[in-house]
Amino acid sequence: MDTSFPSFPLAELHSHLSTSIKPSVYWQIAQAQGFKLPKRDYKEFIDYITLSTDKRMDLNDYFEKIYHPLLDKLSSGTYAVEKATYEIMTGAYRNNIKLIELRSNPMKHNQGGDIDLDHVIMAQLRGMERALLEHDDLSAGLIFCMAREFDFGMNHVIVEKAIKYKRRGVVGIDIAGPGNPEFRIDEYTRLVQRAKSEGLKVTVHTGEAEDTDDMFEVVEKLKPDRIGHGIKAAKDKSLMKALLKQNIVLEICPLSNIVTNAVKDLAEMKSILRTFLDNGVKFTINTDWPEVIEGAHLWRQYALLYQEKIMSEEELKACNQAAFASTFIPTGGLNAYL
Ligand SMILES: [Zn+2]
Repeated sequence: MDTSFPSFPLAELHSHLSTSIKPSVYWQIAQAQGFKLPKRDYKEFIDYITLSTDKRMDLNDYFEKIYHPLLDKLSSGTYAVEKATYEIMTGAYRNNIKLIELRSNPMKHNQGGDIDLDHVIMAQLRGMERALLEHDDLSAGLIFCMAREFDFGMNHVIVEKAIKYKRRGVVGIDIAGPGNPEFRIDEYTRLVQRAKSEGLKVTVHTGEAEDTDDMFEVVEKLKPDRIGHGIKAAKDKSLMKALLKQNIVLEICPLSNIVTNAVKDLAEMKSILRTFLDNGVKFTINTDWPEVIEGAHLWRQYALLYQEKIMSEEELKACNQAAFASTFIPTGGLNAYL
């Protein structure tokens, strides 16, 4: 077996700020600011925030117990946001990722509104610029996530901020977060259209867990460029047809789906991916939460899919090429934003 696979430069299109920060960096951020942590021992802290195929947690449980109360809180404020973004992007580069889109909801990193949103965003841009200065063959860009649990007014502000900073490296918008019966796609068609007309690209988390099962509506009404996850489409021929017709690319995050119980195991993931391949649905391989899932770095997920004979070398190379082809980032590294 070829143990050097994958040796080619990778593109990461779907990773979140809070779940892409290495535990050691979280530890430094916490210590530098005197944050009280739920675990005082470093190893216990890592175990507390990390999931694995043997330690799973439903998506919403992780959101409620770890993600929002701890990870978002620790990665809030200008110091944390700048350091985290810089460390994530340079760390990705050292793992042979030459293109990285990093997503976050700036309103979840402003210490509950105490820090001015523009300061938070500029801190993130500074972190990204430092990474781009260090590696001139790195491409990077930010995606701002609206939240299903936010009201329209708050989400509107996020989109306006994305538009405001588009020349500095904000390349797209997303809708993320747990399902919410109050959240109505219809309310967002004009706002998403406005972002598109300003040159931003659009991706939406949908077709992942049961409670975000509004995938058809998202496809029909928001017409996104890409979809985060979208694995539910493998069970729905008409949905796959709609994806093909609109040339929508899926951002598949294999291990994330398994550790949050959206997918039972690798066998089910294989059946989903083979269905997409058989039907010509375009997809890319991503991490979602590379630092809080054991063994989830992008190259390791490529290696896993290859070694477990879920996809062939050629198919995985094609996925990576599809990621480079469907990125929201303009070519030119740092120069793209100057
Ligand atoms: Zn995600």
